[in-house]
Amino acid sequence: MSIYAVKFGGTSLADAGQFRKVRSIIEANPARRFIVVSAPGKRRDGDIKVTDMLEDCLSLALSGGDFETLLEKVKRRYTEIADDLGVNMDFDSEFNIIATCLTAMPHRDYTLSRGEYLSAKLMAAYLGRPFVDPAKCVCFDENGALDEDETQALMEKTLAPLDGAVIAGFYGKNPDGSIKTFSRGGSDVTGALVARAVSADLYENWTDVSGLMDADPRIVPSAKCVESVSYRELRILSYMGASVLHTDAVKPVSQRGIPINIKNTNRPEDAGTLIVPELPREHRRLSVTGVAGRKGLSVLQVEKSMVSDGAGFTAVLLDVFKRHRVPFEQCLTGIDTITIVIRGELLRPRQDDIIRDIARELDPDTLKIIDHLSMITVVGENAADSADVSAKLIGAVQAGGIHISTINQGAGRLNLIIGVAENDYSRAIQLLHGAISEMA
Ligand code: ASP
Repeated sequence: MSIYAVKFGGTSLADAGQFRKVRSIIEANPARRFIVVSAPGKRRDGDIKVTDMLEDCLSLALSGGDFETLLEKVKRRYTEIADDLGVNMDFDSEFNIIATCLTAMPHRDYTLSRGEYLSAKLMAAYLGRPFVDPAKCVCFDENGALDEDETQALMEKTLAPLDGAVIAGFYGKNPDGSIKTFSRGGSDVTGALVARAVSADLYENWTDVSGLMDADPRIVPSAKCVESVSYRELRILSYMGASVLHTDAVKPVSQRGIPINIKNTNRPEDAGTLIVPELPREHRRLSVTGVAGRKGLSVLQVEKSMVSDGAGFTAVLLDVFKRHRVPFEQCLTGIDTITIVIRGELLRPRQDDIIRDIARELDPDTLKIIDHLSMITVVGENAADSADVSAKLIGAVQAGGIHISTINQGAGRLNLIIGVAENDYSRAIQLLHGAISEMA
């Protein structure tokens, strides 16, 4: 029989009604055996997620303020859900422990992790499945990085004897046994680790949207859900700002070729987006998968005559950035010119020193910095003729009167990145999306 690892995000667990939807989704398919949960999220606009409330409790505890009143509100979120579902749980003792820790030794990761811990315990009691505490099987090393091998070994050992389980997302343990969380949204990563550990046939990630959109719907109201996307395309679109899954959630499943299905808890009948190693052949007619972008970028352009005849110029230039610990996003080389794209907020504090070092070490003919740029990417691994598609896309932006400052395109698969002024960002995305829709 198939095995699914199934992760539910915060809005899927926001109240008792959402817990009921989760149960009916799980009961609809016996393959849904390993369930990973987030902490209860927002019930409506303006509501506060449990994790954010816990973070506020921590700040109050650290500043000697009254955290008890807020912690009591967090407790009420859980007791209301439990009472409505008819689940009997001793939240008094759980919250007494949290309050004692906040008083004696406030610890960020421990405090924030309690949202997922209690959510998973409650879901386990509601579903009648065993609860698994990831503090036993998700391991971080002394540098705070996930210990992949140890986690895989311990998780396999913990989950293999179980027919099914509910596992808390978002946290694990340090080598000394203390709690450590992933970055925010990290339950997606736990879900991927569980999928890998149980060799799942599918990793379902249930959220409140019916999949990855082919553009930001706040900019393009007619944006549509993408049917399927390759891991590589997702990586590029997420890097450029499309947010549907934690970026670290792809690696554990892509290593094993496990597909991910983004699904909507509020519309389980929707197919959602399937994230796969390679796009299926029948989708080859779809030339473009989506468009996404990032603002707040700066471009540093260095020009030096005859530079392409010499060796090592680019290496010296990049070494300046390395020494100043400023990562770059893209490096475009032309004849006698090199263009480096950097996040403005990272460049600005080091800008004067970097310019001084480049001037001293490379003696360029010109050196200029352009700020307030944005980069927009269009991906489509199945674009039959990516050069032709790129030409149409670039043409559409230019026809809209927008100046394109950089163009970067890898060979083969469509992965076009264009740079435009931040002021033109939304309009350029709309023009690109319009051109994509015409081509589909
Ligand atoms: N509850 C955590 C957060 O709000 C982790 C998660 O939901 O994945 O970031």
